[in-house]
Amino acid sequence: MSPTIQETIQKLREEINFYNKNYYDLDESLISDFEFDAKLLELKNLEIAYPEFDDPNSPTHRVGGGITKNFPTVEHQFRMYSLDNSYDFDDLADWEKRIEKTLEGEKVEFVAELKYDGASISILYENGVLKQAITRGDGFQGDEITANVKTISSVPLQLKGDFENRFFMRGEIYLDRKSFNKINQNREAEGLDPFMNPRNTASGSLKLQDSAEVRKRNLTAVLYQYISEDYPADTHWELLEMAKKWGFKVSEDHAKLCHSISEVQDFIQYWDKKRHDLDFDIDGIVIKVNSLQQQKVLGYTAKSPRWAMAYKFKAEKVETLLEKVTYQVGRTGAITPVANLSPVLLAGTVVKRASLHNEDIIRKLDLHEGDFVYVEKGGEIIPKIVGVNLEKRKSDAQAILYASHCPECGTALQRLEGQAAHFCPNELHCPPQVVGKIIHYVSRKALDIENLGSETIEQLYREKLVDNIADLYALKNEDLLPLERMAEKSVQNIINAVEKSKTVPYEKVLFGLGIKHVGETVAKKLAKNFNSIIDLKNATLEELVQVEDIGEKIAESIVTFLQNDENWQMIERLKAFGVQLEKGESTQEFISDQLLGKTFLFTGKLSLFTREQAEEMVEKHGGKNISAVSKNLNFLVVGEKAGSKLKKAQDIGTITILDEQEFLNLLQ
Ligand code: AMP
Ligand code: ZN
Repeated sequence: MSPTIQETIQKLREEINFYNKNYYDLDESLISDFEFDAKLLELKNLEIAYPEFDDPNSPTHRVGGGITKNFPTVEHQFRMYSLDNSYDFDDLADWEKRIEKTLEGEKVEFVAELKYDGASISILYENGVLKQAITRGDGFQGDEITANVKTISSVPLQLKGDFENRFFMRGEIYLDRKSFNKINQNREAEGLDPFMNPRNTASGSLKLQDSAEVRKRNLTAVLYQYISEDYPADTHWELLEMAKKWGFKVSEDHAKLCHSISEVQDFIQYWDKKRHDLDFDIDGIVIKVNSLQQQKVLGYTAKSPRWAMAYKFKAEKVETLLEKVTYQVGRTGAITPVANLSPVLLAGTVVKRASLHNEDIIRKLDLHEGDFVYVEKGGEIIPKIVGVNLEKRKSDAQAILYASHCPECGTALQRLEGQAAHFCPNELHCPPQVVGKIIHYVSRKALDIENLGSETIEQLYREKLVDNIADLYALKNEDLLPLERMAEKSVQNIINAVEKSKTVPYEKVLFGLGIKHVGETVAKKLAKNFNSIIDLKNATLEELVQVEDIGEKIAESIVTFLQNDENWQMIERLKAFGVQLEKGESTQEFISDQLLGKTFLFTGKLSLFTREQAEEMVEKHGGKNISAVSKNLNFLVVGEKAGSKLKKAQDIGTITILDEQEFLNLLQ
């Protein structure tokens, strides 16, 4: 007798759950991604055809949805203590004396480690499998963020070798500077405010609801303590070595086993100078008594272990002359005051400028012309002015007053209530804002007009060839040819790219217009709800705020933008040139679920379609585009001259590699 539909569904669910568990808990794939996806698709189709057998616990409802709405609070089995701080070698010597006294003169070894500047974490392993990850919280209880921690590649999901049955690893999750800068570059490209520093970004990332987003942040975890009921070794150092063998990235990599406090001091001095060469931030050194027996004897105060001590580095500070304060006008009109300094060496780099952020900061510092100021580099990437050497101030020095007019266009600056920054309201004619709007319009996520970099746009603006985005479509070969650094070929490329942008769908054009507060997602929502720019223009505030995710601020900004005559004329010109300002065939959302649950990445030079088109095809068929090669990637589609991504995918071994034609065949 053949199995019933219900039995088939049940069997598929069990199989998929089994493979999923292997993949996420044990970090291994027992079948190819393709086979896995085929099973999932089969199940999905059966569930659609026989809704009476659907089940909220079915794995089809889990894939790709690593969303945690809120993080449960969990008690720590072993309390997570703070560390006592020391600021100089005298503090350290005092600590050593206290230890010697308690230990009655026993010989003491120390382990000196870097004090990683991130967010602390406690991870439970049972039978070699990552079970649970909890934030420090108040030390007694924290948030359970297991799904997010599992996305961090330096955290092993399954241990290797001869591990203990049940134990906790404590450590720090941080963001290296390169990843931090990359996140900020992306944010700025999308018109979002950059994050302040890697530490806050790391702890913020851990609380994101979508674990797929967490993965993109590229966090690192370094583990610095083994904790359990009893210990498989006698010293902290040995435990770190064991943990390393099990597959952890451990603090031992930058640590030293010291036989005296003076060796510890050497270590501190070394890293105080060298810390700037690391690709991540540290804010000091942690010193721990190596012997676990001695740790036990020393015990804890109400707050921290007596057997450990943090040594905090002083933020480096130098004095230099404030030459003048200038004002930068951003592409959105925001004004940033900048302190121009006599060049000075600080934390390994020559500093010439420091951000002053806003008027309040200048007032608070009470800056005067010709002041000598103290500049510091703390956790933040950009140096800041922390004070003035009043002894050097001349008695007739004038206080520095904040600029009243835009240095670029002369318009009176404004400051909105409740906001710290000034801005230039001359959105349509202030040079950096005009150029900024065009740069935004041609950017990859908007109209994706290749061959038009920001320098070229600035050049076109200077030569009075463009004054707004509609002017791009009026450009002719003979306008561009006489320009500096323009050859026939590059001119033709620009003209072609501009022409091609007329096929870019409405929702992207909406995003490209650069309406304040209208990002990619909002633009998509608007396009979905209003079939054309005219419909959008006719929409009232009330109608706009009906749309999901559109609040009053966004709605007002849309109305203001579209009711402005100059803007509307420009939009009419865009329409006349053939730019998509209404929903066309191509905005149709969904074609099939052929690629459901599958992930794609395109690399190399594509010839049958552009990358944008390819990514759109994936989405329309239910697939997902991801941005890097990892175990989560199912298909890598390679064009000509594919490089490191192809190699990495081949190394991973579970990724299906397709050429462009094979990709198209998938969609049949
Ligand atoms: P504090 O937050 O200043 O009290 O310092 C204590 C914190 O330092 C701990 O909660 C850890 O998150 C962090 N830390 C960073 N690196 C280490 C390390 N190597 N050993 C112990 N704690 C560390
Ligand atoms: Zn201006």
